[in-house]
Amino acid sequence: MIRGLKIDGKKEMSLSEEIIDFSSPDKVYVPLMNNNTPCDCLVKKGKKVKKGTVIGIRKNMDFPVLSPVSGIVVDIDKCLYLNGEEVPCVVIENDKKETVLKKVLVDDIAKYTKEEFVELLKKCAVTGMGGSDFPTFFKYKSDASFLIVNAVECEPYLTADMMLVKLKAEAILESIDAIRKINNIKKCFIAFKENNDIVRNAFLEYIGRYEDIVLSPVKNIYPMGWERHLVKSVLNLEYERYPSEVGVIVNNVSTIFAIYKALKFQRNITKRIVTITGEGFTEPINVLVKVGTDMSSIIKKIGKYKGEKLKFIAGGPMMGTALSSDHIVVSNNLGAVTIISDTEDYKNECISCSKCVNVCPAKLCPVLIMKNIDNVNELKKLHPELCVECGLCSYVCPSKLGVRDFVVKAKGKVRQ
Ligand code: SF4
Ligand code: SF4
Repeated sequence: MIRGLKIDGKKEMSLSEEIIDFSSPDKVYVPLMNNNTPCDCLVKKGKKVKKGTVIGIRKNMDFPVLSPVSGIVVDIDKCLYLNGEEVPCVVIENDKKETVLKKVLVDDIAKYTKEEFVELLKKCAVTGMGGSDFPTFFKYKSDASFLIVNAVECEPYLTADMMLVKLKAEAILESIDAIRKINNIKKCFIAFKENNDIVRNAFLEYIGRYEDIVLSPVKNIYPMGWERHLVKSVLNLEYERYPSEVGVIVNNVSTIFAIYKALKFQRNITKRIVTITGEGFTEPINVLVKVGTDMSSIIKKIGKYKGEKLKFIAGGPMMGTALSSDHIVVSNNLGAVTIISDTEDYKNECISCSKCVNVCPAKLCPVLIMKNIDNVNELKKLHPELCVECGLCSYVCPSKLGVRDFVVKAKGKVRQ
């Protein structure tokens, strides 16, 4: 059974016809992080770089960090990353010339061999843009029968993926088709919420060209975008740890677009759409920004903060991370900055209502994990490592105890 809740999407807030282009900042702050793993810095102050120059490396995977701009390295500093921590970053002054390492334009993007494709994803530093930031080449190392493209965007408030589909449905489909041919995948499914006509209509315009790509509407519940839910809903398959066990690859729709850029131009994604939203902001909207942009200046150019005590969240209110300031920098996997009023002071005792247990899609016991937070032996028996950080336990808790934060903390403790 697929567990989830119907929650107010609040997506109309940031949905508009326009997208504001802020993709030419004076400086970028490129985090030396990949999938929460620190990367080594490979450049020094004064080094001239082009778009695509390797500036860092994740050593254990030999995975590069690439420059999103051309210009000059002016500092190695720290920046606020989307996990809420200050991390090392390469500061590059943007010369705004957009000089690339090598100009490439591939006509037939399905012409690559599987080996070339995997190598290209690595070289172009393609990562999971829906949140994980995990190197995408890894998923394609083994064979798969099915590809599920995740265009569900089930997190409330967020509309960046929807906007991308609206603007780039044709290129996304071309990319899916090429991925299918290169990897000998039998069938591809585009999963989207059954009530999302924007996504449905954008794809319907071009999908008739492709026999082996189908639209797959899924229930309008949260967290329907979780891989496990998608694989069950679309293919009626279940797995232990990874979708690859049942021959399935799941990619976020924005990752598919990053793959398109890699296939077509053999370069990294240098910009992305970010939703700026929430009741604490006067002008919710989607913006196109360079990777490494400090969002603070952009937000202030567009509108004003509303209310006294505000909370800045990297991502949406369910799965995102509360930040200490609005100076967050854009990484590949930052889909939104949500600004809402901070009501976290309201904390009571647990009333043992079991709501958090009944709602958990991973079938965990969040209340027990919270109560045993200092007892690692007990925590190990409760398997917090299976938590998908969906935030539903915190959402339903009548005592507003922030249960998810305890489970996330417990995850770290059992892994040590
Ligand atoms: S314990 Fe984790 S998976 Fe379960 S509801 Fe809470 S955040 Fe979601
Ligand atoms: S939902 Fe909140 S109050 Fe209810 S059992 Fe869970 S932690 Fe306790």
